[in-house]
Amino acid sequence: MRWGKGMRKPALLLTLALLTSTMDAKTRVTRKSFGHTPDGTAVDVYTLDDGKIEVRITNYGGIIVSLRVPDKNGKLDDIVLGHDSVEGYIPNSPYLGAIIGRYGNRIAHGSFQLDGKTYVLPKNNGENTLHGGVRGFDQKVWTAKEIRDGIELRYLSKDGEEGFPGNLAVTVNYTLTESALRIEYSATTDKDTVLNLTNHSYFNLAGQGNGDILGHFVKIDASRFTPVDVGLIPTGDLQPVEGTPFDFRTPHAIGERIGANDPQLQAGRGYDHNFVLDHATGQMQEAAQAYDAKTGRTVKVLTTEPGVQFYTGNFLDGSITGKEGRVYKHRYAFCFETQHFPDSPNHPSFPSTELKPRQKYHTVTVFEFGVRAH
Ligand code: BGC
Repeated sequence: MRWGKGMRKPALLLTLALLTSTMDAKTRVTRKSFGHTPDGTAVDVYTLDDGKIEVRITNYGGIIVSLRVPDKNGKLDDIVLGHDSVEGYIPNSPYLGAIIGRYGNRIAHGSFQLDGKTYVLPKNNGENTLHGGVRGFDQKVWTAKEIRDGIELRYLSKDGEEGFPGNLAVTVNYTLTESALRIEYSATTDKDTVLNLTNHSYFNLAGQGNGDILGHFVKIDASRFTPVDVGLIPTGDLQPVEGTPFDFRTPHAIGERIGANDPQLQAGRGYDHNFVLDHATGQMQEAAQAYDAKTGRTVKVLTTEPGVQFYTGNFLDGSITGKEGRVYKHRYAFCFETQHFPDSPNHPSFPSTELKPRQKYHTVTVFEFGVRAH
């Protein structure tokens, strides 16, 4: 490249900076078509490849479509549930791999009060609102752009969308380096609102569609969890895990106690609960880990969030056929959804999910993948 004679200094510096950042980038990002939504909008799938693992993400719902990681013998396999093209996710999917918003998990009776005003949301889960309503962020086409080591997704949620107040400008950055997938969520609003963003990846470390996850070992750094009623709405208590099947402070197989005669496991039809992280300071902290002995694959979750929803695919029932014709049966995957607590707008004692104009919402979650020999 030749520097133009008349090139001004700022332009030269910018060119140099761009060049250096591309040279430094360890991850290759490529884009191709992922099909069309029913209204004809074209969507893409981006491949992020850091030389060790490969993740594919579509700008439809910000969905993590596939995640290929090595096992202890170096064999790559795809460890998240999903579909081969965008059509598979439409008209509805149980949020496979998607960005969840505006509000991750449930809001009781589809209603909350903010600044003395009652907001009414569509109920899409019995009496309650789940994962942002009838058409949450998981079903929106996001504006995507390539950034260093990954992609940036943007979505403007209009004032009143799914009943929530305020024009909300959301950015989610996915980057991949050194076998770690980093998800950075930012948002601003022009009116007081509530917000709880997460990602809903369904993991099976033995490979997607390759048996249930009951043999996976899980560790969660939480001494308490938020017990729920039969509609999976938190009662408001923070219950100690000590002496219950919810004690994952040391690793336990998911299947070890999932069938125990425990009212909370019955309410959730298994694990479908928010764990209150012990080290929630707003700084990045280790939250949870999972390990599959057969393949040696591990995932470690770090987050700035105060909670994690541990969900064991209790509602998967074999009715979904996903990638490569694999059938997703009962408990064929688990989720670690880092988040604020479900139904926080109706529980003033929970960490607040309110966002005001001039405040910046910013949370980060990292999934680190690895292997253990035994
Ligand atoms: C919820 C489950 C729900 C699942 C898929 C989880 O976050 O807690 O109850 O079935 O998402 O929709």
